[in-house]
Amino acid sequence: MSVLNGLTAALSAGVVEVVDLTTPLSGDTPILNLPQPLANTVGLSLTPVSNFDDAGPAWAWNDVTVGEHAGTHLDAPVHWITGRDGKSVDQIEPKRLVGPIVVIDKCAEAAQDPDFLLEPEHLEQWQLDHGQLPENCWVIFRTGWSARGGNSADFVNADENGPHTPGVSPAGAKWIAGNDRISGFGVETVGVDAGQAATMDPMFPVHSFLLGADKYGLTSLRNVDRLPVTGATIVVAPLPIVGGTGSPSRVFALVEGS
Ligand code: MN
Repeated sequence: MSVLNGLTAALSAGVVEVVDLTTPLSGDTPILNLPQPLANTVGLSLTPVSNFDDAGPAWAWNDVTVGEHAGTHLDAPVHWITGRDGKSVDQIEPKRLVGPIVVIDKCAEAAQDPDFLLEPEHLEQWQLDHGQLPENCWVIFRTGWSARGGNSADFVNADENGPHTPGVSPAGAKWIAGNDRISGFGVETVGVDAGQAATMDPMFPVHSFLLGADKYGLTSLRNVDRLPVTGATIVVAPLPIVGGTGSPSRVFALVEGS
């Protein structure tokens, strides 16, 4: 049997499952909210074109308005000043968007400390426990944060000092950006950086280091509790917006049952 026939047979038999890692996209989906005087993007809205009426008696369709960086979305290199000469979302090679998933689980730490930061030693310890990272992998930072996704205030978790959500330290981001086996980094939170990343040096280190190194970000992931630490495959499907800095994306994981 060919590899792909084997895969489709396994999908059909339920031996391989398709897990949807995407947050449903609606006007209620939590989006980033930057403080004044910075500008903000918009969430999703639908404007009906017709709805089985005089404007279209047998069909319904809508116009969509949505920010590139709303809901589960991909950050392309041109999103950040460090990657401004790099790829826009339409220029990302498809083969970089399909690859092995490795999960770094810090749910316990994030439950104790919402400002928990991933450091190089956590990534090095992962390799001691599970072996070298596979080629073209996507590192998924599992924090349990998506459990808050039904409530925007809980999800953003802000006080007078800004949002408090887990993320990556500048040293951790530099480590990820410097690893040529990594294609992307995915999180459960609203952005790929920590809630307090505006105060770091450099500010927003995941954006700064990864997008400057032709690696891609992925946010607002759900169902990552259903992923094994190794062995799953990610399929990331952003819209090929020409010149786009990112795109809402459908993200699937292929997970092999035991
Ligand atoms: Mn983004």
